[in-house]
Amino acid sequence: MTTELIPPEWAFEFHGHRCPFMPIGYRMGKLAIQNLGVEREVDHGLFVFPELGEGHPQTCMMDGMQIATGATYGKVLIAKTFYGKLAATFYQPQKGAVRYALNPDFIDAMGKFEFFIYRKKGIEPSHIPAAVVVEIINWVYEQSDETLFKVEPKPDFTFTPVKGSFNKTKCSVCGEYVFDRYLRMKDGQPVCIPCSGYGK
Ligand SMILES: [Zn+2]
Ligand SMILES: [Zn+2]
Repeated sequence: MTTELIPPEWAFEFHGHRCPFMPIGYRMGKLAIQNLGVEREVDHGLFVFPELGEGHPQTCMMDGMQIATGATYGKVLIAKTFYGKLAATFYQPQKGAVRYALNPDFIDAMGKFEFFIYRKKGIEPSHIPAAVVVEIINWVYEQSDETLFKVEPKPDFTFTPVKGSFNKTKCSVCGEYVFDRYLRMKDGQPVCIPCSGYGK
């Protein structure tokens, strides 16, 4: 694997610990933007839809995807589908969409490493002996892109982002600003969602 697919040190600092999954997501993101022929996103033009959910392992991949693609949570460019799958679709409106999924055989082979004996006991990655963590990370680095990923173009994929607006209004109860798409009306007065008593 080429070194440009290895996350820079700041990626590990941002992520917090060393694990194999942030680097896998990073590599997936790097390959996906190369595949689409786009650069790391600086503004708001690239969207990533990871199929991961919550309450399962390997969600660390999503930090790597954000770091590699620039499609970050704060720019509202990444949104989970909650399918509970180790895959993601990368979409740039002018270039189209491509889906990357981890191959089951790769997941099975990775699962045999000592790293998972610790993880299944509930031991956090930062508390696993460094040699055990380095072993699995380096093994992943040695595997080919084809071993890791199934890649498929998604020519029919479409997505329309929410239209942006700067309009905001002060809640008549708490006095805090609310962006208008989240404003609610109660007794004829504009209110924020927490002051409205409504669930949403
Ligand atoms: Zn991690
Ligand atoms: Zn309020």
